[in-house]
Amino acid sequence: MSEPVIFYRGGAPLTPVTTEAVETTELVGVERKLSQKNAPEELPKRQDAQPPRVLRKIEKRLRRLCGKAVVDYNMIEDGDRIMVCLSGGKDSYTMLELLRHLQVVAPVKFSICAVNLDQKQPGFPEHVLPAYLEKLGVEYRIIERDTYSVVKRVIPEGATTCGLCSRLRRGTLYGFAEEHGFNKIALGHHRDDMVETLFLNLFHGGKLQSMPPKLKSDDGRNVIIRPLAYVPETLIEDYAERKQFPIIPCDLCGSQPNLQRATIKAMLRQWERDNPGRTESIFSAICDVRPSQLADRSLFDFASLAVDVASSEAALCETSEKTSEKTL
Ligand code: SF4
Repeated sequence: MSEPVIFYRGGAPLTPVTTEAVETTELVGVERKLSQKNAPEELPKRQDAQPPRVLRKIEKRLRRLCGKAVVDYNMIEDGDRIMVCLSGGKDSYTMLELLRHLQVVAPVKFSICAVNLDQKQPGFPEHVLPAYLEKLGVEYRIIERDTYSVVKRVIPEGATTCGLCSRLRRGTLYGFAEEHGFNKIALGHHRDDMVETLFLNLFHGGKLQSMPPKLKSDDGRNVIIRPLAYVPETLIEDYAERKQFPIIPCDLCGSQPNLQRATIKAMLRQWERDNPGRTESIFSAICDVRPSQLADRSLFDFASLAVDVASSEAALCETSEKTSEKTL
């Protein structure tokens, strides 16, 4: 049997992904050319020639938060080759903009390559990202892999397909990064995604766990970074709208929304309306964990807790001296 190969668009040919890297899922290999009708002029006009004052303010705040997260977690180092996962959603467009800016101002040199996975959802506007990225002059690759058919075949009608879809997407992207020598993978998850994930795990998984700003994949072959870790979602929404990014909706697949996540998102938004700053406070808590004030025996040695005899005797002496002074 011949080895399946992923085709991609954008730039010179790279080494094909191996069978192992793409697991067992079906692949669709069709190399497409950009047609005339997909020319960059079709995109909405971008506003970065002379951004208005409000946009500049938003951009400044985004850059500050992104830069702080990158420094705090040492996300980017000299010589990094970063694969920027670009889904076509507001978060990934924003992340790409911020990383491009960092390339100019950061004291370290690193390269970026935008990578999109075309999952063969019906109606996926395949010309949008290439046109956008070519206009920006950003190096990119489009991987084509029919995870849509796999998900449709495996998941029963009416059920949420996002879990399997995301796993397949992750597997493909991580494999691609490894095969093509990217040492970091940048994902567009933001602060609110991290807080939502915390509550999902809390309510449905019985775990105190969120998404870290930086992590090594389970198999140790990839380092994932989340440069938007400090950025609130509303700021991204505002930015994306003002920048008129050519958004590609995620739900072209017709999947039911993930109800658990949607419920938590609605809960957090309501809390934020009632008590502004609450989401930020919860996020601060993720960054300031006190294992001795929780109950995880693997993080804190509760079993060995005992009275410190020396200091206890010293305290007793001090108390009795004070008592005698008063008596005198
Ligand atoms: S909405 Fe569709 S494309 Fe998006 S993650 Fe869920 S299943 Fe995948």
